[in-house]
Amino acid sequence: MGILLQNGKLLELESGELLAREVLIEGNQITRIAERIEAAGHETVNLNGHVIVPGFFDMHVHLRDPGFEYKETIETGTQAAAKGGFTTVACMPNTRPVLDKPELLRYVYEKSQAVGFARVYPYGAITKGERGEELTDMDALKEAGAIGFTDDGIGVQNAGMMRSAMERAKELGLPIVIHAEDESLSGKGCMNEGEVSKRLGLPGIPGVAESVHVARDALLAELTGAHLHVCHISDASAVDVVRWAKRRGIRVTAEVTPHHLLLTDEGIDGTDANWKVNPPLRTEKDRQACLEGLLDGTIDMIATDHAPHSEEEKKRAFQVAPFGFVGLETAFPLLYTELVEKAKLLSLHQLVQKMTAAPAAIFGVPGGRVVEGGVADLTVIDLQQERVIDPAEFASKGRNTPFAGWKAKGWPVLTICNGRVTHNEL
Ligand SMILES: [Zn+2]
Repeated sequence: MGILLQNGKLLELESGELLAREVLIEGNQITRIAERIEAAGHETVNLNGHVIVPGFFDMHVHLRDPGFEYKETIETGTQAAAKGGFTTVACMPNTRPVLDKPELLRYVYEKSQAVGFARVYPYGAITKGERGEELTDMDALKEAGAIGFTDDGIGVQNAGMMRSAMERAKELGLPIVIHAEDESLSGKGCMNEGEVSKRLGLPGIPGVAESVHVARDALLAELTGAHLHVCHISDASAVDVVRWAKRRGIRVTAEVTPHHLLLTDEGIDGTDANWKVNPPLRTEKDRQACLEGLLDGTIDMIATDHAPHSEEEKKRAFQVAPFGFVGLETAFPLLYTELVEKAKLLSLHQLVQKMTAAPAAIFGVPGGRVVEGGVADLTVIDLQQERVIDPAEFASKGRNTPFAGWKAKGWPVLTICNGRVTHNEL
């Protein structure tokens, strides 16, 4: 017996057309897509005219497991993913211990298969303990299923170390995924360095702390031929560097977060650490540069950098509270409402591409399209329903978001991952 989705509109990713189609899921596959499919013998689900899109991808999440289970677990993090319409997430290795050994990657795979609500691909660390001193056994990490290598949370400060990592990654055919931050420039900063940080008297992180590092690694990628993926780009010059590197034929891709597309440092008052994130919210000029980069293809995909923390941690003073926002449960409605509906900068299918087909193709993982014979990873969106964002309703353990109280439309009402219903509000 299959699951037959009736009365839905399938979004055509290339043209943006909404087609009246029924979709049949049998096992973990989409076996038929047609205007009418014989319902006998199948469980039918009425989609009430809502829109069918591929399950979303988020190539940048912190599941905090192992070691920081009070912030999030693989179970709660993937529940949040399913609720947000995501069927695939890639998790960062800055756990405790750091994911720098094959058995730790295997732990993530096994636990996510046992209790998870999404496909989970772990990154392996570039350096042991993310200490920047010694490379991990990258071959063994690939063997254990690493989807790429990163020391996310901190930048690899030593250029020679990064060169060696890229040489190895190139051999292994996996990307080097960078958190670009030159610590000699970012220092003890807690927000963007600029007018607002001066006004508030808070130490700033200049945009060049990011762009200098991106430029260095773009040149190292040119030298080594490695695939460089730039995480959470936020600075206008860093966007320019990626644009330049792509024109030059360097193998570089980049992601941007919803918060860097929607917010600036003007929203920070220095008291609420739910506005503290790294890289920091920057200026309107930087935000516009990120939007432009997303539109012209310089920035390939959207990733949330979902970074849950406990309430106690985020209640600390702005300067000492940890960096990070949760993002999985609000990403799509916020981007759809603000960029598609209000600003009309993107069309629905362009936004969906940046969250599905683009990351799937770049990281070479299944999903990213709704096609016959493809994996049954899909999401159904109610584009009309408007809700107020209430962190108390999150499935994530983290409530740390600057978007509390925002009104947004376009909520995922059904998520199916690998043929299994992982979220259902129909
Ligand atoms: Zn990062």
